[in-house]
Amino acid sequence: MPQAERFDTVILGSGQGGKLLAWHLAHSGKKVAVVERRWVGGSCPAVACMPSKNELWSARVAHLVQNAAQFGTLADAVKIDMRKVRRRKQDMIDREIEFHLNAYKTSGAELIMGSGRFVGPKTIEVTLNDGGTRLLSGDEVVINIGTHAAIPNIPGLEAARALTHIEALELDYLPSHLIVLGGGYVGIEMAQAYRRFGSRVTIVEPGRQLMGREDADVAEEMRGILAGEGIEVLLNAQPVNVHGLSGDAITLTVRTGAGEQKIEGSDLLVAVGRIANTADIGLDKAGVELDARGFVRVNERLETTASGVWAIGEAAGSPQFTHVSVDDFRIVRDNMAGGNRRTDDRLVPYVMFTDPPLARVGLSESEAQRKGLAVRVAKLPMSNVLRTKATDETQGFMKVVVGANADRILGFTMIGSEAGEVMAAIQTAMLAELPYTKLRDAVIAHLTIAEGLGPLFGNVPPRAS
Ligand SMILES: Cc1cc2nc3c(=O)[nH]c(=O)nc-3n(C[C@H](O)[C@H](O)[C@H](O)COP(=O)(O)OP(=O)(O)OC[C@H]3O[C@@H](n4cnc5c(N)ncnc54)[C@H](O)[C@@H]3O)c2cc1C
Repeated sequence: MPQAERFDTVILGSGQGGKLLAWHLAHSGKKVAVVERRWVGGSCPAVACMPSKNELWSARVAHLVQNAAQFGTLADAVKIDMRKVRRRKQDMIDREIEFHLNAYKTSGAELIMGSGRFVGPKTIEVTLNDGGTRLLSGDEVVINIGTHAAIPNIPGLEAARALTHIEALELDYLPSHLIVLGGGYVGIEMAQAYRRFGSRVTIVEPGRQLMGREDADVAEEMRGILAGEGIEVLLNAQPVNVHGLSGDAITLTVRTGAGEQKIEGSDLLVAVGRIANTADIGLDKAGVELDARGFVRVNERLETTASGVWAIGEAAGSPQFTHVSVDDFRIVRDNMAGGNRRTDDRLVPYVMFTDPPLARVGLSESEAQRKGLAVRVAKLPMSNVLRTKATDETQGFMKVVVGANADRILGFTMIGSEAGEVMAAIQTAMLAELPYTKLRDAVIAHLTIAEGLGPLFGNVPPRAS
């Protein structure tokens, strides 16, 4: 084996936490290399969070214009130009690439474009995108290689060349009938966007509700909102087989309680979960073990089973959000410097960016029940929040879970306008361990959505004892 080039830190994959770590360490004088095979800046700005939210925003504009008459604005026939939608998204990505390249340059961290695989402990061989190979070794190595969309084993699916989110975000035509397999966050966001652009959309979900992690009333509210926009939602529908080619004609056969049913569409999007990018990269040669699901096995300090090798983000089994990968960076940064930060004591919020969005932090009602916790639950329909009377954004509700015998807030879920922003106020109260009564009794500005927190917490039943 040729002599490896030595670095203080080698980072495999330029995921969300890894790139921040690279810039931080390089700014502190360390010699750092980052190996990235495809996306400068990782998947979030290239093919995931940012481009999807960019297109969702374009879809929201389309929706507002299509419904403008309700607000007294008369717009003539509305046309959607998917090439312009895609161009606007690509322009944003191009600006992100420029930002990232500049950040690498100014930090001094070296970005090496190529595919990396371990060939020994803390040693990575890179097959360079431009040809040739390099051999790198690091005193410390960080794995931040992310995940990819799972394609389930359904007869005919592979041959159908179904879209994942990556191809769906590249469409410059409007599918006449988009079938979305999977009723989770990625599928629902894309379903609403394409419906608003003008496609017929059918969501096929094998489970008994959309968004399997959420309470049944939350999932049902979202189903009603999507149905109200004309999205067909098929629950308890087990895919049997696929015929045809996505982009041309597709027939998806599903089994439901009522027997087999054929759904005929033009395009098929698969959004049924994520698989870690851990296959065939020599992790065994580096002493890095995987868990049963194929994610890198880490402890709560994000150390892998190999000494001096850390893992960050989705491939490490962390919750699948950019802000978690970023927090993983802070944990590894501090632990590398001798600290003792952990992953198991953090409060992880999330938002699904539908319109209206869904936001959650802490426990849902059903999770509290599964844990056997005695809780009080209060709800407030968004139609009771005064601001929505002015804006007509009356869909959804706020829901809070409070301890039965103590006034601590245990969890908050909201479907409604500005849900993510309102949730941040609750998260702050939870971090500060405030009793819910502080928010109930706070003077909150009129006419904001957060003003609803007063009546929401006013609905919390009194303690039993
Ligand atoms: C459609 C969609 C929308 C999303 N929206 C949101 C959102 O709104 N908010 C949110 O918080 N999260 C969202 N997410 C999740 C979010 O994108 C990820 O959680 C986030 O990118 C963190 O990923 P990561 O740091 O684990 O790695 P990633 O950002 O996925 O980066 C991993 C990188 O490693 C590279 N790589 C992999 N293997 C190798 C190898 N062998 N050699 C070299 N390079 C390699 C990959 O090319 C990739 O660039 C969304 C995801 C999807 C799919």
